[in-house]
Amino acid sequence: MEYQNTLEFALQMDEQDSLKDFRSKFLFPQHNGRDVIYLCGNSLGLQPKSASQYLQDQLNAWHKHGVEGWFDGDDPWLTYHNKLTGTLSAIVGAKKEEVTVMNSLTVNLHLLMVSFYQPKGKRYKIIMEAGAFPSDQYAVESQVKFHGYEPKDAIIEIHPRDGEHILRTEDIIQTIQDNAGELALVLFSGINYYTGQFFDIGTITKAAHAAGAIAGFDLAHAAGNVKLELHNWGADFACWCSYKYMNSGPGGISGIFVHEKHFGDTSLNRFAGWWGYRQDKRFLMAPGFDAAIGAEGWQVSTSPIMLMALHKASLDIFGEAGNVDVLRCKGDDLTGYMEFLLNKINADLGYTLFEIITPTDVKQRGSQLSVVCSKRAKNIFNYLTQNGVIGDWREPDVIRLAPVPLYNSFKDIFEAGRILTAAIKELGL
Ligand SMILES: *Cc1c(COP(=O)(O)O)cnc(C)c1O
Repeated sequence: MEYQNTLEFALQMDEQDSLKDFRSKFLFPQHNGRDVIYLCGNSLGLQPKSASQYLQDQLNAWHKHGVEGWFDGDDPWLTYHNKLTGTLSAIVGAKKEEVTVMNSLTVNLHLLMVSFYQPKGKRYKIIMEAGAFPSDQYAVESQVKFHGYEPKDAIIEIHPRDGEHILRTEDIIQTIQDNAGELALVLFSGINYYTGQFFDIGTITKAAHAAGAIAGFDLAHAAGNVKLELHNWGADFACWCSYKYMNSGPGGISGIFVHEKHFGDTSLNRFAGWWGYRQDKRFLMAPGFDAAIGAEGWQVSTSPIMLMALHKASLDIFGEAGNVDVLRCKGDDLTGYMEFLLNKINADLGYTLFEIITPTDVKQRGSQLSVVCSKRAKNIFNYLTQNGVIGDWREPDVIRLAPVPLYNSFKDIFEAGRILTAAIKELGL
């Protein structure tokens, strides 16, 4: 792609964009009476305009049917989750039965570790990336302690090489091989929240299995963002949230994946609840847990229908947009445009004000660029916010910008570049 730093170029790209009409399906926060330039879908995706209607429909069903809503009406709540898992399983590259929605992300990570982190004898260690999302670090530490181990001993963190920001796959594989005899679990994010690096899930999974370990993934920043093939890659389990790239609202419901090879394994521990009981016999309320076959068997509590309705509003938009390849194609072009503009600013300045620590290889990233600002980082970020560009800030000096294909335009990116240039002038950089 030959990018140009002109409004004409951006408008022409928008004109050719097959997804251009999807922008109008979302509600944008306002700044001085105009839509903000929202580059923060990696943190909280925008609200679909249809969300309020989806919610209202379920409030109406509750009004109309009361408790009978579990079985009656257009969308009986008992099976409502099945209306989400078709699109969702396509998004993560799974079979429908391998996916369900329940709880929140960190809760699900705990529940899945109960099943898939089963340390025994010499095999008790967990490998993860250094600098994983803090909630995941806390979850893993507490799981390890719960089993009676010391986090310092049981958790192996892989760091980038000196002077590098991202992990090399070869180093990940080497660490797995070096610890093969003691390894119980390899737990990685799909995309690291700080650097935006998209890990090679298939290769990591293969190495984990060769070492006799389980491979699990937290896909919070990957689901709805990059192409995933959880089933074919053979990942054992995964979980993600729906409120980042999947636009399902603050604290929205989480999703899980369990590979079908584990469906019949009765040796797995489970923290069970009635919503994981096989559906045909759930209401017999019999003693003794008889798990539903599939990811559903990990469900614990009554479906939060309102959260599911919000999730469905967004998933239906994903369904309309087509497959993840279509989104990624535009996402790569948008993200590449942002990268081009940042590099152009550096070139014009004659020094590197903006160091992009996200991989330049599009196969190793999604829509997020993490930008280290070498000077006045917080001032630059504040200038963006004051001028209607919403990115997000990570201490000490990183601005994350995420051009999202469903609702961002090339004009958004051009304008963000223009405002960054204005910030540099204003701050005398
Ligand atoms: C966003 C995010 C979370 C947040 O978890 P919640 O339980 O939804 O608060 C956890 N892990 C990762 C990797 C994330 O990116």
